[in-house]
Amino acid sequence: MKQELETLLQQATAEITIASSEEALQELRVKYLGKKGALTTLMKGIGAVPPEERPAFGQVVNSVKDQLEELIDATLGSIRAAAKAERLRRERLDVTLPGRCKPLGTKHPITLVIEDICEIFAGLGFQVAEGPEIELDYYNFEALNFPKDHPARDMQDTFFVDDNMLLRTHTSPVQIRTMLKHAPPVRIIAPGTVYRCDSDATHSPMFHQIEGLMVDKGITFGDLKGILTVFVNQYFGKNIGVRLRPSFFPFTEPSAEVDIACVICNGKGCRVCKNSGWLEILGAGMVDPEVYRHVHYDPETISGFAFGMGIERIAMLRYGISDMRLLFDNDLRFLSQF
Ligand SMILES: [Zn+2]
Repeated sequence: MKQELETLLQQATAEITIASSEEALQELRVKYLGKKGALTTLMKGIGAVPPEERPAFGQVVNSVKDQLEELIDATLGSIRAAAKAERLRRERLDVTLPGRCKPLGTKHPITLVIEDICEIFAGLGFQVAEGPEIELDYYNFEALNFPKDHPARDMQDTFFVDDNMLLRTHTSPVQIRTMLKHAPPVRIIAPGTVYRCDSDATHSPMFHQIEGLMVDKGITFGDLKGILTVFVNQYFGKNIGVRLRPSFFPFTEPSAEVDIACVICNGKGCRVCKNSGWLEILGAGMVDPEVYRHVHYDPETISGFAFGMGIERIAMLRYGISDMRLLFDNDLRFLSQF
């Protein structure tokens, strides 16, 4: 019996020592120490041992059992430690490796122009206002003194959604929406996207405008010229010449085109200004009394001016962009320059 115990201890020790996983160890524990395990089976043979030897035999069995349990626990400990070390090794972070660079976007030149212009006018007390791009004929035309069948409507090739609805052809409907909601005084700047049925080297069917409106008691044409001169000098530079030429818009009377001295050639004459030394940058005028009638303002007590400019044109002048289509190509080599 003692010999059998000895053999069992050696065999079990050998197997436990080379076990490489927790599962394998668990199987060995069952094989030797389980209810039907080898040691338990040997223990059951105690009846065959002479009575006086039984206590000694029991002690040896218990000692073998303790040794095997200790060995299994120790092996289990080292298997777990090795697994943890391996996990830590795999999860190690090399903080000296260079970081991965994510390409950073830049603001589109159109966005930059809108932000800069809004900031200048905010400094002059104007609030930013917005309106829908799908607009009713009434706000886009009729309330702005373009009656139905009026030839002035042909100045703007319109995308109609149906008889009554269209893609706004200018940001001017924001004037009407604002005045209908607020009593004077009104001082707004309204940037936005507009649409016209037009596409060639200098026209895009979708483009951007920025609209301004100032209405209060006693606003004169002098205020219009003063505010726009302040804007031109802040945006394009001090001492840039400004001139106004008579023009026509249905919703302003009198109306003017505003030119600035050519920022490319300083007024000497170049290709961009067609040798005139002047660049047209916006249209403006005193709000027509007919428009006030549509928004229930009293033209006898208040007056004001409105102006509008094309953002693409301003961006091209400001950043020296020669072809408007570059603004819509989404070419990163171009856009990342801003
Ligand atoms: Zn020029």
